[in-house]
Amino acid sequence: MVIIETGRKASALWGVSFQILSMMGDPVCLLLALAKSPAITYNAQIPPEGPMERTGVGVAVEPGANRMPDLVLRVGSRSAQGVRSNNEDSFVVDLPQRLFVVADGMGGQERGEVASTMAVEIIPRAVHARLASNEPADQALLYAMKEANALIVEAGQSQPEGRRMGTTAVVALQHNGQVFISSLGDSRAYLIRGHDVHQLTVDHSVAQALVATGALTREEARFSPYQHVLHKFLGCSELNGATEVHPFTPEPGDRLLLATDGMTNHISEEDLRIGPTLFPNPQDWVDHLVQKALDHGSRDNVTGIVIAFEER
Ligand code: CA
Repeated sequence: MVIIETGRKASALWGVSFQILSMMGDPVCLLLALAKSPAITYNAQIPPEGPMERTGVGVAVEPGANRMPDLVLRVGSRSAQGVRSNNEDSFVVDLPQRLFVVADGMGGQERGEVASTMAVEIIPRAVHARLASNEPADQALLYAMKEANALIVEAGQSQPEGRRMGTTAVVALQHNGQVFISSLGDSRAYLIRGHDVHQLTVDHSVAQALVATGALTREEARFSPYQHVLHKFLGCSELNGATEVHPFTPEPGDRLLLATDGMTNHISEEDLRIGPTLFPNPQDWVDHLVQKALDHGSRDNVTGIVIAFEER
């Protein structure tokens, strides 16, 4: 049996910003994103069947067999609009499926919000459909990412040139004692285990690709104009088989953080290392991380989900 608890809603301010998103490879797709509309933020609980319900706090009890029967999952979540004019981040805490998604949308007008909202709605539904057909969790997750990509591409095709849309998505699915992680874009998953901090995802930014080739150092990449230029994301018609799923086996005390770059650009590895000790409650910790990112000058939307794996 697993019990899942989740947290509270987002805060909101106003501002304006630009992002440029492009795709490397053949062919290249280029998106220009201008954020200018009111916020949509999610703290949602999706029942196994039926429409999404937005909730502030939820508790779910998992029936049936599980390879980690003595672990309790506690979840905290928060999204802040910050100084931007709208919030293009979306997230979902899907308690019945133990599925968590953070998405950072990009696109002209309100399209970034549309794209990230589509991601957090499509992925849980698609995962549910595949798990209900007894498909393995990793395959269900791959299918869900592919489905979300296809539908976001389709929705974007009705938009005029320069107003297409895309979104990052980082997804965690706990199933049969394992946690499956998949990501496209530069939203990240971190596992904090004891004093070790593991980044479980690779940024699909041009800057990170240049680091991988040795053309840039990690420090140079942090200040590169290509840091925010993505070559993999949901909403690119040439994505093909680029999505990966990686599992890990959770241990008591683990903390899993899913976060957009509005957070990860403004917190340090040390913040992640000491956080679970200073803030044992995942909601307290994610609130702190969001506030810290804003206090440290994040001019982006800031979103995170913290999942705590604890002994009962
Ligand atoms: Ca962002």
